[in-house]
Amino acid sequence: MGVLNTRAASSFRHPQFPSTVPPDTAPCAACRSELRDRNARRHRYPFLSCGECGPRYSIALTLPFERERTTMRAFWRCSDCEREYADAGRRWHRAEAIACPQCGPTLSWRSANGTVLALGDEALRQAVASVRAGCIVALKGIGSYQLLCAAGRPEVVAKLRLRKRRPSQPFAVLFADERKVTAATRASEAELEALRSPAAPIVLVNKLEGALPAEVAPEDAWLGAMLPSSALHQLVADAVGTPLVCTAANLPEEPMCSDDAEAIARLGAMADGFLGHDRPIARPVADSVVRIEADGSLVFVRRARGYEPERASASAPRRSGTRLIAPQYELVL
Ligand SMILES: [Zn+2]
Ligand SMILES: [Zn+2]
Repeated sequence: MGVLNTRAASSFRHPQFPSTVPPDTAPCAACRSELRDRNARRHRYPFLSCGECGPRYSIALTLPFERERTTMRAFWRCSDCEREYADAGRRWHRAEAIACPQCGPTLSWRSANGTVLALGDEALRQAVASVRAGCIVALKGIGSYQLLCAAGRPEVVAKLRLRKRRPSQPFAVLFADERKVTAATRASEAELEALRSPAAPIVLVNKLEGALPAEVAPEDAWLGAMLPSSALHQLVADAVGTPLVCTAANLPEEPMCSDDAEAIARLGAMADGFLGHDRPIARPVADSVVRIEADGSLVFVRRARGYEPERASASAPRRSGTRLIAPQYELVL
């Protein structure tokens, strides 16, 4: 029930009179296959999206939701994107965040002190190499910066705990695909359905003992599982090839970090490098956290990215903001 309701908020095709900004959604199946298609224009492009998916709420400056009123306004559509945007028969029709490697945002890889070390695909390669070498990388996610590290390496996860000053709360783990989720957890079909929903929330699932180091969730039988919420997350997770701890890049008492300059200043002591880009985050939004009840219904622990702002048509329970709704499930967010 609740899981299926999230689909109501998945699609946005330039309504005539939008009353609110649609939520951010994970790449749709067509965009995911374009990402992997060597012959496609957007092969390995971390900012691909279409009329059915992509960033919305986090890039919207004002209403109505049109490109000039989003942080995509700095990027001019190239002639190919312009053609796709105007073509009523294609999935990019009136997709306000349409972009491609020729005209859209670009990745950057920076050192801990902010020096640009690489751009584009090379930035991705260096960040991935850094994670695989045991470093902690700050990633500019959809609504805020996150810290990533290899979940399978206990000494690296312990280092992250020290830097985040979080001794024992369960971490969220980013998996590249469902197969990797089921290899490390006891996720049920309903939990997998929530994971693959367009909102791509963190879903609390029971661990499979021994599949990941105890450091990931030392005192609990569960952890927070997540699937990629953007093409960038998908590319990173695919390239690293093993599960990644993925947690908000701020200390417990600090607000979320979404501004690039602030990230360098605040996170330099926690991260060994920054995988960022030149599309500003207009509205910071945390990752959503849900859990599935025994009867299959979805309960929000935190209602945020992918669900905010709530649409009048959505029939999910009314919750507000990004507060923690069920504090007994304290996850390191
Ligand atoms: Zn799409
Ligand atoms: Zn383009």
